[in-house]
Amino acid sequence: MGDYFERIVDIDIDATAEEAGLLADRITEWLVAEGVITRAPDGTGMYSQYADGGYAPGPRWTRAVQADLGRPPGPLAVITGRHHFVGGQGEDDAEYAVCPRCATRTTFIDYPNSFEADEPTWAPFRAAVEAWEATGTGEAICPACATPSPVTDWQWCDSYALGTLCLEFWGWPPLSDAFVADVTACLGHRTAQHTGKF
Ligand SMILES: [Zn+2]
Repeated sequence: MGDYFERIVDIDIDATAEEAGLLADRITEWLVAEGVITRAPDGTGMYSQYADGGYAPGPRWTRAVQADLGRPPGPLAVITGRHHFVGGQGEDDAEYAVCPRCATRTTFIDYPNSFEADEPTWAPFRAAVEAWEATGTGEAICPACATPSPVTDWQWCDSYALGTLCLEFWGWPPLSDAFVADVTACLGHRTAQHTGKF
């Protein structure tokens, strides 16, 4: 099951690159201290589009999960940089974003009526996210109120997250709520959680 992943994304994305780096150091140190990972590099069985390698699971990796696998899981990657993260399909009944100005929801995919994004609606949002990833600035215009807002101000559905720091667990069983809460407290930021398959 190395092609399954669990993901925790820090979605308080005002963090600068330097801040994200410091946060990454802090959370890595905490994970090592808790025995969830070691500092040994490990890239086996991971198919991340954001990182080539991660850290090997530690002696107390089961502290992070709901149930023991009976064998060690794969690596945990600590990812920094401006990225969009997509969770597993079916986590939401639709894929959408909510305008920070007028609170209107713009829907890109309406399950189960469709499994493809509505291209004319999605294309300008995708372009705005790509601009943000490349430059740190990107605005999407709300179809309802015609106001442009930074993509980081839009409220995205659960399966889509913009972030500058992310933990990706490859081949781990579902994470426990207590562990996710501990990670969130350690970061001191809001987080989003994804489960998916490569
Ligand atoms: Zn609007």
